[in-house]
Amino acid sequence: MIRKILLHMCCAPCATAVLEDLRADGFEVTGYFYNPSIHPWKEFKRRLDAVKEWAPAVGLPMIYHEEYPLEKNIRMLLEGENRCFSCFSDRMERTAEIASNTGIELFTSTLSVSPYQNHVLLQKAGDNASEIHGVQFMYKDFRKSYRRSIELSRSAGLYRQPYCGCIFSERDRYLKIKSPGEM
Ligand code: SF4
Repeated sequence: MIRKILLHMCCAPCATAVLEDLRADGFEVTGYFYNPSIHPWKEFKRRLDAVKEWAPAVGLPMIYHEEYPLEKNIRMLLEGENRCFSCFSDRMERTAEIASNTGIELFTSTLSVSPYQNHVLLQKAGDNASEIHGVQFMYKDFRKSYRRSIELSRSAGLYRQPYCGCIFSERDRYLKIKSPGEM
C-alpha cells in the first residue's frame, strides 16, 4: 500500500534529495512550505519562489503558507529558551496540523538533511507536534543525502541560500557564531 506523507520543506535545494529518497521508499509525497522565520522578507520570497519554480517541474503537489507575521515571529524566537527549538516546534506543529486537516497520517521535514541542524532538538519538536495533533512524525536522518541535494540543486539552477533563515542566523554567519540549533 502506498503511504502518503506530508513533507515540511525549508527550501527547494534541501527538498531535492529528500524527495528522491522518499519516493524511492515508495511514499506519495505532498510538500508544505511554512517558514516564517526566514528574514528579511526579500529572502523569504526568494526561497518561496525557488520552491514554486521547482515543485511543478518534479510533479510535487504543494501547500504554501505565505503569511509573514514578522513581529509575532521575532517575539517567538526571542521568548523561547532556545530560539531554534522554538522555530522547529512552530514549524513542526503547523505541519502536523496541516497533515491532520488533510488526512495525511505521517509527516517529516527536510530540515534533517542538514548536517548543521541539531537533530535531537528537531526530533523532539516533531514528536511533541505528533502528540498534539495525533499524526505520526517520521524522523529520518537524511544527512547522507546532503551532498546529493547540492548536486541536484546546482544542476536545476536553484537559488542556494547562504544562511539558515532568521535575522540572527544572518548575523551569525558573518560573526562565525554557532546557532543554538547547530550540532
Ligand atoms: S538559526 Fe535557523 S533554526 Fe534557528 S531560529 Fe534561526 S531560522 Fe530557525
